[in-house]
Amino acid sequence: MAEKRDYYEVLGVSKNADAAEIKKAYRKLALQYHPDKNPGNKEAEEKFKEAAEAYDVLSNEEKRRRYDQFGHAGMGGAGGFGGGMSMDDIFSHFGDIFGSFGGFGGFSGFGGGNRSARRVNRGSNLRVKVKLTLEEIATGVDKKIKVKKYVADEHCHGTGAKDGTSFSTCSTCHGTGQVTRVQQTILGAMQTTSTCPTCGGEGKIINEKCPHCNGEGVQLSEEVITLHIPAGVADGMQLSISGKGNAARRGGVNGDLIVLIEEVEHPDLVRDGNDLLYNAFVSFPDAVLGESVEIPTLDGKVKVKIEPGTQPGKVLRLKGKGIPDVNGYGRGDLLVRVNVWIPKNLSKEDKKLVEELKERDFVKPAGGDGKKSFFRKMKDFFE
Ligand SMILES: [Zn+2]
Ligand SMILES: [Zn+2]
Repeated sequence: MAEKRDYYEVLGVSKNADAAEIKKAYRKLALQYHPDKNPGNKEAEEKFKEAAEAYDVLSNEEKRRRYDQFGHAGMGGAGGFGGGMSMDDIFSHFGDIFGSFGGFGGFSGFGGGNRSARRVNRGSNLRVKVKLTLEEIATGVDKKIKVKKYVADEHCHGTGAKDGTSFSTCSTCHGTGQVTRVQQTILGAMQTTSTCPTCGGEGKIINEKCPHCNGEGVQLSEEVITLHIPAGVADGMQLSISGKGNAARRGGVNGDLIVLIEEVEHPDLVRDGNDLLYNAFVSFPDAVLGESVEIPTLDGKVKVKIEPGTQPGKVLRLKGKGIPDVNGYGRGDLLVRVNVWIPKNLSKEDKKLVEELKERDFVKPAGGDGKKSFFRKMKDFFE
């Protein structure tokens, strides 16, 4: 961001300028650079914002004193527009200035100060839970859900007024939604602006309420919403879908739809971050002689070779068979831990066979693949 110009320089006034001079200078600039007069002109918009920011500070006794003392460094904290003012800020703060020109009423776009000064209602957020299987999470999925929510009443177009037309401009604030009082104090004229008590900041008064929504402008309704769930989401994550929440009372901005992700437990696989874990059991002969075993994955079963002499606890890594990263950073693996199944209920014949085996000396030779590597692999598995 470019270095900020001196506020006095921006408005083209001297350091000793009084409130009237400052206001006059700002009006002139605001008129010159008004977005309705310079559509699509970014430079004019910047000048318009710069002037508004300068005026915001220099028209306020307290802020101006702070600025005179500390310069721009003093303006970052509370009460200042440290990050610059948005168009909405400008119109809601200085709407009365444009309004008093009379000339802006006919402009389109921002509609002059009067309209933007009104308070905008915001609908509440709507929260829903969505249950997803690991298979759905692995690919991403579109989910249709039915939600009960407030929507704008079609009879009154969300205004709450009968037929959407039965209201008039508030006579207290003349539609601005704000009332400004000027008091004379020792320091000079002090201006305070507050929400209009007559219309509650809406700028208009309903003459006859819409009978369908009792003047609220909203009605409870059911809507089917399609959610686009990206691949790789996890239990407890929240997706926020802007504008899909409840409609605001008497027109305004919709709330958001907050989607809470719930993961359904998989019958075989356990999720660990983007990896999946699976406990495979093979028989003693298979571990000794080697065998191909079927392993469940999220896209069907795969055959995995168990090498002859595989020790219990060995972990096989199936690359890329896990969950894709939600931010697109690759894909997890499927880790298969090989366990050797020990039979419990043996027939007489079985028992005899095992006793015969016992006669053979199957003891670990010194220096072979034994306990040490077993624990290393277990640790690897559980971390
Ligand atoms: Zn009012
Ligand atoms: Zn209505």
